[in-house]
Amino acid sequence: MKETSRRNFLRTTAGALLGSVAAVAFGLIPGRVKRALAGTTVQPEMDLTGYNPREHLYSYIIDLHKCIGCGSCVQACRRENKVPTGFYRTWVERYQKGPESDHAHIDSPNGGLYGFPAATAGVSGVSKAYFVPKMCNHCSEAPCVQVCPFGASFKSPDGVMLVDKERCMACGYCVQACPYAARWINPVTHVADKCTWCYQRITKGLKPACVQACPTGTRRFGDIRDPYDPVTKVLAEERVGMLQPQLLTKPKCYYLGLDKEVR
Ligand code: SF4
Ligand code: SF4
Repeated sequence: MKETSRRNFLRTTAGALLGSVAAVAFGLIPGRVKRALAGTTVQPEMDLTGYNPREHLYSYIIDLHKCIGCGSCVQACRRENKVPTGFYRTWVERYQKGPESDHAHIDSPNGGLYGFPAATAGVSGVSKAYFVPKMCNHCSEAPCVQVCPFGASFKSPDGVMLVDKERCMACGYCVQACPYAARWINPVTHVADKCTWCYQRITKGLKPACVQACPTGTRRFGDIRDPYDPVTKVLAEERVGMLQPQLLTKPKCYYLGLDKEVR
């Protein structure tokens, strides 16, 4: 069957059925993971031998006390994942507040790729300012998975949310459903894109590119199946926050020092 015909067939006939079956019976198969990795710096033929996703459960911590808004993480992500200009798998927001204002002014020029200007036009008397890195939260109860009619968005057993690029029809439902604005349709690959916690790296025992690049240790990544992992220790002992907990999406990105005005 021609590629276009196959896509049309899936869209019109089998999509809903495929989605519901996949939602119930999804399991990680190597081919599916490899397809999910297509378009990253490591191509589908990558060797996953020796990696068992059932032996890991990853979490990510962002320490807002440490972020200086330098943008090194955004740059590293762009390089590692060939992120097209104007799109971001991770970005940094700046929150600025005056002594008498109830609401923070938020800006993120170029996703924080080049850092931030010293002052924001129109904002004077800033008494409080801080940076908030953001990305896909790899939600345990992920709306993006729930709405995908093709079963293309899925959760691997190690907790990482991935996109099966063969199944994705770029319908954009997941882009709309994500409450964290983490997803977009890649103009080069024409499928849904977002942070994968650099799956091509973590399956090799490496840290995500953003974690590796951060000069202040703001970003930490770990395996909570390992009781000795520093991330496991932080989650066990420190008070952590998450974005929009009222949505019950159960994010696996946790924040230290999260202010209630961050959304
Ligand atoms: S943050 Fe958005 S894209 Fe990521 S798992 Fe949650 S709903 Fe899906
Ligand atoms: S984990 Fe990887 S894909 Fe996700 S934001 Fe960091 S560098 Fe980008």
